[in-house]
Amino acid sequence: MKTIFYTLLLSLILAFTTSCGTQTKNRHNNKPATVITASFNADSAFTYTAKQVSFGPRVPGTKAHNACATWLIKKMKQFSDTVYIQKFKARTYDGVTRNGVNIIGSLNPDAGSRVLLLAHWDSRPFADHDKNPANYHKPIDAANDGASGVAVLMELMRQFKLKRPDVGVDVLLVDLEDWGPPDFESHPSNENDWGLGSQYWAKNPHVKGYEANYGILLDMVGAKKPTFLKEYYSMGYASYVVNEVWKTADELGYGQAFVNEEDGAISDDHIFINKYRNIPTIDIIHLDKNSSNGSFYEYWHTTGDTMDKIDENTLKMVGVVVGTVVYNN
Ligand SMILES: [Zn+2]
Repeated sequence: MKTIFYTLLLSLILAFTTSCGTQTKNRHNNKPATVITASFNADSAFTYTAKQVSFGPRVPGTKAHNACATWLIKKMKQFSDTVYIQKFKARTYDGVTRNGVNIIGSLNPDAGSRVLLLAHWDSRPFADHDKNPANYHKPIDAANDGASGVAVLMELMRQFKLKRPDVGVDVLLVDLEDWGPPDFESHPSNENDWGLGSQYWAKNPHVKGYEANYGILLDMVGAKKPTFLKEYYSMGYASYVVNEVWKTADELGYGQAFVNEEDGAISDDHIFINKYRNIPTIDIIHLDKNSSNGSFYEYWHTTGDTMDKIDENTLKMVGVVVGTVVYNN
């Protein structure tokens, strides 16, 4: 994914508020206090992260990507009632048509009231933000930028199968999120170069006419001491979902990580779910205003995005917060 720098935000706010402001609403003003707190096994989530990384960078078109897809499908069949495998072709910024696979696990598939949870499972083929330019063309391990979100959703689904929420849940693992143009090439910025799997799914959902009450995207949710800010597009499209998630986090004692502050505008998968599928969808993403790396997690798009940076406590925190929101909303 890609950030739009803070200095540009002011001019964007006006245009965005005009076009999308009316979609902002709060449907939960009168709901009772949170009653069910989700269970979450941090060890499992950590293991699921490590397993993905162990295949090597999951770059579309590689053996590691294929092997990881096979494993993800096997696990999702275990944790869901129904699994959909959505193969697609999409053209990356460089004009090359590539093969992708979106994997969807559904729980309570017949429930009319549904929640969509998503993360990308592919790895970026370029470490274009590495401190060492010699690494720019290397693919990344993507322990945090991809694997962490997938792992949290896998463990959540396992828990949901043990204790089913009232709603139906769909875990959407999207492919080809992270093949956007590298910074070492001077390619014009275009948000459509990112999130190719989510763009495909949003236009061709696994179930015809698919709808969900809301969606939550997880991206970089595994590093030590993260900060999750209220991301700009999430607030524009689905502020009531953001506020519900942040309120739940605060009630669970995680207010230090789920910072009550709006900032960052991220071209990520949630934009396409909002735009093409009309599902109010937010992005829980590690944003750090003091980062020297594009206002993201310090090791974002570097060869340093490795397993040793992953913290079980963070995986658990995000899992419990999202799970609790699903049980109570
Ligand atoms: Zn990325």
